[in-house]
Amino acid sequence: MRALCWVGAGELAVRQVPDPELRNGHDVIVRIRRSATCGGDLPLLAGRVPFLAVGDVLGHEFLGEVVEVGPQVRRHRVGDRVVVCSSVACGACWYCRRDLPSCCDNGSADPAVAEAAWGHPTGGAFGQPRTMGGFAGSHAEYVRVPYADVGAFTVPETVGDDRALFASDAAPAGWMGAELGQVRPGDVVAVWGAGAVGQLAARAARLLGAERVVVVDPEEGRLRMAERHADAETIDPRHADVTAELRERTGGRGPDVCVEAVGAAWNGHGLRSLADRFTGGGAERPAAVREAVHACRKGGSVFLLGEFTGFVDAFPLGAVTSKGLTVRGARQHGQRYIPMLLERMARDELRTEHLATHRLPLERGAQGYALFRDRADGCVRVVFDPDLPPSAG
Ligand SMILES: [Zn+2]
Ligand SMILES: [Zn+2]
Repeated sequence: MRALCWVGAGELAVRQVPDPELRNGHDVIVRIRRSATCGGDLPLLAGRVPFLAVGDVLGHEFLGEVVEVGPQVRRHRVGDRVVVCSSVACGACWYCRRDLPSCCDNGSADPAVAEAAWGHPTGGAFGQPRTMGGFAGSHAEYVRVPYADVGAFTVPETVGDDRALFASDAAPAGWMGAELGQVRPGDVVAVWGAGAVGQLAARAARLLGAERVVVVDPEEGRLRMAERHADAETIDPRHADVTAELRERTGGRGPDVCVEAVGAAWNGHGLRSLADRFTGGGAERPAAVREAVHACRKGGSVFLLGEFTGFVDAFPLGAVTSKGLTVRGARQHGQRYIPMLLERMARDELRTEHLATHRLPLERGAQGYALFRDRADGCVRVVFDPDLPPSAG
């Protein structure tokens, strides 16, 4: 089959790779119909994450059709249209039983490296290096889905592919940020980043009863989307002092909940960011995290959805203790939220298709990731469709 492979820092190529096969009784094989880019891919693409190997297939947000079913699979049949959680969880271990699927003890086939880096192995994910399980990604014609009864979900007939696709990764991540960030009815919530995850965190905060949601992002087009689809107010950090503006809009108190959906790639403003740029390459740059911690009201809650892989520099720990903040983060626990999100999509409460700003064949993968990385042409997410002819788009 054809697959979009990592072939070196910044380099992608479509290659012929062996078709995936059923390996365990609980596997299914899915023929891919949609597979999206995600900000979490960018550190991989740049070669900043160790253990990615030449020939590894990227992609973890996807939807497709079941074409083969292992003998132990109960919930799926050939022909089912499924959306698959981007993280891999067994459904049966100590963590899965406590509803923490992205912490699964059996998601990674090679836990030693994660254990060395983080103290514990985490669950696996598609399209990641072997530290995260080494599961081949979804930018391909087919993908093997382990633990299919746990991680694959049949899409209601009334929900289209371009909407349901985002129930794989961006929508559950956003929902988790709002829910575990403890958004309560009447709250003011600030969200850093208006990419797919940030927009869906903002929408989730509204659905959980936030009275006001303020989205911070330096892209005009994304801010307009957040206004239209998440019913959010916006701040453009190019034209405003974000912390001062948030204080102003909250009667001097600051937001109750701050959700960070930027990660380490954010090019922040001000002196600290300048220092980051000069010392770049070592520690990750959590400019949005710093701002969120700084802006959050006393006793408030900060949730980190951004992709961080190692160590950060200049974290404002003093603000956390002095202001009594709760700071929390997680890789997305999608298995927990996807059925509920699909129901909301079917009821038209949650619309996501506008996030698929570009649709391209696999063969245009390098171009798609360049568009996505540079946010060119209003790009929010590029969706690869292996059925499109190579010249399409
Ligand atoms: Zn992702
Ligand atoms: Zn598990």
